[in-house]
Amino acid sequence: MIKPLTAFTLFCFFFIASSAQSVNNAAVLSRKQVPILCYHQIRDWRKSDKKIDKDYIIPPATFKAHLKMLADSGYHTILPDQLYDYLTKGTPLPDKPIMLTFDDTDGDQFTVGRPELMKYGFKGVFFITFNNIAKNKYYMDRKQVRQLSDEGNTIANHTRDHTNFKKYTPADWEPQIAIPTKKLELLTGKPVTFFAFPFGAWNTAGLPQLHKLGFKAAFQLTDARDKNDPIMTIRRVLDCGYWSTETLDYNIKHDFGRPEPQKPLLAKAR
Ligand SMILES: [Zn+2]
Repeated sequence: MIKPLTAFTLFCFFFIASSAQSVNNAAVLSRKQVPILCYHQIRDWRKSDKKIDKDYIIPPATFKAHLKMLADSGYHTILPDQLYDYLTKGTPLPDKPIMLTFDDTDGDQFTVGRPELMKYGFKGVFFITFNNIAKNKYYMDRKQVRQLSDEGNTIANHTRDHTNFKKYTPADWEPQIAIPTKKLELLTGKPVTFFAFPFGAWNTAGLPQLHKLGFKAAFQLTDARDKNDPIMTIRRVLDCGYWSTETLDYNIKHDFGRPEPQKPLLAKAR
């Protein structure tokens, strides 16, 4: 008789093996980009917050207004598996698709973000930095991550401790990416097949490793995609706390509607 853990491992192996098919890069690049927004902390600004920090902190009132604008405008949230099937196979998406992504395991993504998503029937993608789970009161705990997964959101990998992907040595792949993937799969009971680069930083040399580790796709920020590996360099924009709903609407249409390469809307990200 196969033990449950062994069965799960076998399931993951066959799932990953079956997903490791070759991707037609030209087809991926030819398809219209789906707007993808990236969030970090959702809280009011404090006096101690520096200007650079505020790019990654969206006040709850602004976040709520932005999500309401998206819902009122008829956007439908999609998840990474849908995006992958659209980009690689042309599988149709709902009208006005958008993806909402949340990085770093911040607790207010659960306490503030989750209820707002639920209000509109939206689903999100949570890129978990594994060592941030229950690190202190500002981060989500294991139960909250599991709940987000159980409720139909996607849990994905954002490394063990947010070390810059461009600085990895061969010794880093296992502890920074492979082991957190396994731990997240055990936590959620589901395969973890999507990755986001810390700081949005990536290099072409590291992309083959993501394929080897079984990822279907990876997400950066606003650099142009790698023409030889666009599925591992999908673009996102930070939904900045400074933006009005009109600015967000403009940037969604402008940034994801024009050809690459282009200048980033925001130079840096975490
Ligand atoms: Zn991050």
